[in-house]
Amino acid sequence: MFKKVTIIGLGLIGSSMARGILQQGLAEYLVAADKDQAVCDKVLELGIADEATTSLKEAVQDADLVVIAVPVGAVEDVGRSIGPYLMPGAIVTDVGSVKQSVVDALRPSLPSSVHLIPAHPIAGTEFSGPEAGFAELFHGRWAIITPLPDSSIKAVEKITALWQGLGSTIEIMDPQHHDLVLGITSHLPHLIAYTIVGTATDLEDDVKSEVLKFSASGFRDFTRIAASDPTMWRDVFLHNRVAVLEILQRFTEDLTAMQKAIRRGDGNYLYEVFSRTRSIRKQIIELGQAEYAAAPMLSAEDQAERQ
Ligand code: NAP
Repeated sequence: MFKKVTIIGLGLIGSSMARGILQQGLAEYLVAADKDQAVCDKVLELGIADEATTSLKEAVQDADLVVIAVPVGAVEDVGRSIGPYLMPGAIVTDVGSVKQSVVDALRPSLPSSVHLIPAHPIAGTEFSGPEAGFAELFHGRWAIITPLPDSSIKAVEKITALWQGLGSTIEIMDPQHHDLVLGITSHLPHLIAYTIVGTATDLEDDVKSEVLKFSASGFRDFTRIAASDPTMWRDVFLHNRVAVLEILQRFTEDLTAMQKAIRRGDGNYLYEVFSRTRSIRKQIIELGQAEYAAAPMLSAEDQAERQ
């Protein structure tokens, strides 16, 4: 599909893409670029790229596809570092969890001869780094592509084919709409998890140890989400500020309504809300989005943990 693919940032997502691209034979030559020499060494040890370098300039030369897979806050710097060295006609894509700010960060530094086609795989775990990746991460998951009004159709088709090759189903969206939808489905739940687990860590030591000891599935599930990479999530909230604040406002209003219902002993209200939310879970299961496909590169213990 591509002659030379360069992936910048070999963490969970970048290394999963590298594994998938190699496994599916989607590139003739695959280059890994990461600012961390230890990550480059690990990539070569794992055998998930043909070459690994800390030089972004060398990495992107002659590449017909460049994938930026770094935290959203680092995208602008990466764009500036690679802009002058990109091959005319090359496609630049990314995997960031926020889309409009990535477009704003990249557009000024990319030459007009290069196609920018942003994307976001709706797949992930709370683990980070090159060892955390696995090729099956994207199987049966959505990949949202957010082309720009002037994007070349051919380039969009190539990015579509890339994600389909990695096992994903494609949805095309406007970047701002993506940020609103993901604000509800992903960013707000992470914020709530970070807050609940943060509240527990602020408790007095004796209460805290009991919370951990008797952590029932509710709290335990939140701790899994709240174990997600702090750099990545800091950047998500700083770069999707408007949508997150808007959704947080609505959430606060709904929480206040719950608070009132509990105070007034309004069981009907609680039952009605809980019944509606239960049917959402059913719909997600029916859509096949509830669990991860098996990840053969992981131990049984790790797989159980991921689920
Ligand atoms: P990760 O595991 O932390 O990996 C990011 C990698 O990028 C690290 O190796 C990091 O090196 C490297 N890096 C950071 N700044 C760089 C720079 N300026 N130049 C070169 N390399 C740099 O993160 P991830 O989970 O793969 O996330 C990557 C992107 O995918 C983020 O934009 C995130 O929003 C998006 N995403 C994540 C998920 C998820 O569930 N994790 C899901 C969908 C999309 P250091 O460790 O040395 O900083």
